[in-house]
Amino acid sequence: MPTLRFHALKETFNRVPIPVTEPERRSDIFGKNVFNEAAMRQYLTKDSFKSVMDAVENGSKIERHIADHISTGMKEWAIAKGATHYTHWFQPLTGATAEKHDAFFETMENGQAIEKFGGGQLVQQEPDASSFPNGGIRNTFEARGYTAWDPTSPAFIYGTTLCIPTVFVAYTGEALDYKTPLLRALQSIDGAATAVAKYFDKNVTKVIATLGWEQEYFLIDSALAASRPDISLAGRTLLGHSSAKGQQLDDHYFGSIPARVLNFMRHLETECMLLGIPVKTRHNEVAPNQFELAPIFEETNLAVDHNSLLMDLMHKIAEKHNFKVLFHEKPFANVNGSGKHNNWSLATNTGVNLLGPGSTPMKNLQFLTFFINTLKAVNEYEELLRASIASASNDHRLGANEAPPAIISAFIGSQLTSVLDELEKMTSGKLSPQEKTDLKLNVVGKIPEILLDNTDRNRTSPFAFTGNKFEFRAVGSTANCANPMTVLNAIVARQLIDFKKQVDALIKDKKMKKDDAIFNVLKEYIKDSKRIRFEGDGYGEAWEKEAEKRGLSNHKTTPEALKAKVSKKTIELFEGLGIMSKIEIEARHEIEVEDYALRIQIEGRILGDIARNHIIPTAIRYQNILIENVQGLKNIYGTDFKKFSVEQMHLIEQISEHIAKINKGITDMIDARKKANKIEDAEDKAFAYCNDVKPFFQVIRYHCDKLELLVDDELWPLTKYRELLFTK
Ligand code: ADP
Ligand code: MG
Repeated sequence: MPTLRFHALKETFNRVPIPVTEPERRSDIFGKNVFNEAAMRQYLTKDSFKSVMDAVENGSKIERHIADHISTGMKEWAIAKGATHYTHWFQPLTGATAEKHDAFFETMENGQAIEKFGGGQLVQQEPDASSFPNGGIRNTFEARGYTAWDPTSPAFIYGTTLCIPTVFVAYTGEALDYKTPLLRALQSIDGAATAVAKYFDKNVTKVIATLGWEQEYFLIDSALAASRPDISLAGRTLLGHSSAKGQQLDDHYFGSIPARVLNFMRHLETECMLLGIPVKTRHNEVAPNQFELAPIFEETNLAVDHNSLLMDLMHKIAEKHNFKVLFHEKPFANVNGSGKHNNWSLATNTGVNLLGPGSTPMKNLQFLTFFINTLKAVNEYEELLRASIASASNDHRLGANEAPPAIISAFIGSQLTSVLDELEKMTSGKLSPQEKTDLKLNVVGKIPEILLDNTDRNRTSPFAFTGNKFEFRAVGSTANCANPMTVLNAIVARQLIDFKKQVDALIKDKKMKKDDAIFNVLKEYIKDSKRIRFEGDGYGEAWEKEAEKRGLSNHKTTPEALKAKVSKKTIELFEGLGIMSKIEIEARHEIEVEDYALRIQIEGRILGDIARNHIIPTAIRYQNILIENVQGLKNIYGTDFKKFSVEQMHLIEQISEHIAKINKGITDMIDARKKANKIEDAEDKAFAYCNDVKPFFQVIRYHCDKLELLVDDELWPLTKYRELLFTK
């Protein structure tokens, strides 16, 4: 009997919920382990405090002697909370977070010791980071990377370590992480959106991009997860026959949360509170054992850090509750995969949500301005937006087995559709006072503050307007949000800069009134970006055909999609806004195509190993039992045995056929890998893995899954789908 599977199942059946202690009120502990405003007021001098706040709000530089004061205050605060170490916490291009811990402890000449943490250590650190991916930047420049403090995201204590959010850059200045370009993109959108917001309110001096992510994930018992080499190594199942019952009955969605899971969530949320992550919502998702967690939205840089921190935290807390968290976009075939919806909007320092309809025609004109500019930006850069969410694992969702599709389109709802249709009909040039009044009162003025059909109607749209924000739904559950957020904020910034130029030109050259000019430019934008608007069902061939007619891209695989990241248009965009240089852009592309090839290579190896070392031997063992049985029948019944062994003989033959096909599949796959590995160019190699290696996965899996249905359950070595998905 295969011991691992049954041992794991036995362990799982004996589990009981792990008790958790929660605070009486969450608000009591919120941000307790964060060096936030309250902590800074207590531990910093007035000057230091002002300097940090100024850096956060206005991006001003912190003087070195002030940094010394800040580090001292930060250290005292951290030690008072039991911290012994500090680390620069950063997000290298592996997608995970990285840290290297150093003790505060230092010895002195007189044989005594003290706790030390100077301004220099706060501001800059040099991790021995030679094995983080850098796409050739560091080799080319023979420069090492260093991490530098990002004061816009507050330091926090995790365990006994003071974590300082940092950027990671090469000595030659190129960004080696996700955060650096994000911060630059956020600066661009601030500048561009503030300039446009001033058309409507002179008091606006800053615009922040807001992000509220929704994290989907699966929770699998840790013993069951460990019993499967594919889940352990690739974070997803590479084979396994579907469970007879899956998600057909929709009985898991929003159902009651199982007790063990609930305790995990309560524990996790308590830790989140301490770290200042404002988690708010938890519920079951569509697939069995799939869940979701969402916070209250925050400023984008902070929200991105919080999502990275959360994912890290989830792994650690899950372990304590004997679970493994799967963030993979498609851990199981034939049940829903996981995404990470990115809710995005723009807010002014005067407290206005620029993507929220208002109560007056003027407020609504402001809303429409930002709304239509966003649509125009998405229309213009749909291919880059698609590229920003491309990964080997997200390919399983986009354009593969489930919505949203690989085609980027925007859902806006029927109310806004009719508003845009009306605006499109207006006359060009200067508006007559009557037409303007009519537009303001009957079109713009009629937008209700609450848009009824914009809540959650269109689940298949990759980019949906949901009443007061856009929801970028195609982002994968494993993704670092910085990547799509850098692109989205950059393209909208670019668009708003162009918009302002056009409006100003109409005011100056055509002597138009401001409103006339805005209406005129918006009207053209509505026409220009019509093709990106799609209200229908994005799942299926009809939309694919229609999208092709509209000239929208439909890149179903990562290597294909990633091309847009290095196009001339993209380089112009990023260089023009000072977000990334050509070298940085190309380095990132190289890292991403390399990562793709590596992931497919690893999966190929795992699949080959499991099929050869687990599946085929098991199938042969069962076949031998059948052969023995047939021989026994022959001993008893002589030539009559055939009558009694029809099923057995048939099974014996079927098993042999499947084994032969699996063997051939593996051999061919290995040959394809060998060929791919000889390719020097990283992009060509990714294409080879995508087009020549990956297709064998399906073939091998198909026959393994067929064997799963034939072979005696008692002999089957791999924990089955029904066990993985329905054990609570
Ligand atoms: P629901 O759709 O569950 O009724 P909401 O629409 O309020 O709730 O929010 C869904 C997600 O969108 C949450 O994660 C929330 O934080 C986020 N969100 C809401 N408003 C904004 C905004 N202005 N900017 C960014 N994210 C937002
Ligand atoms: Mg959502």
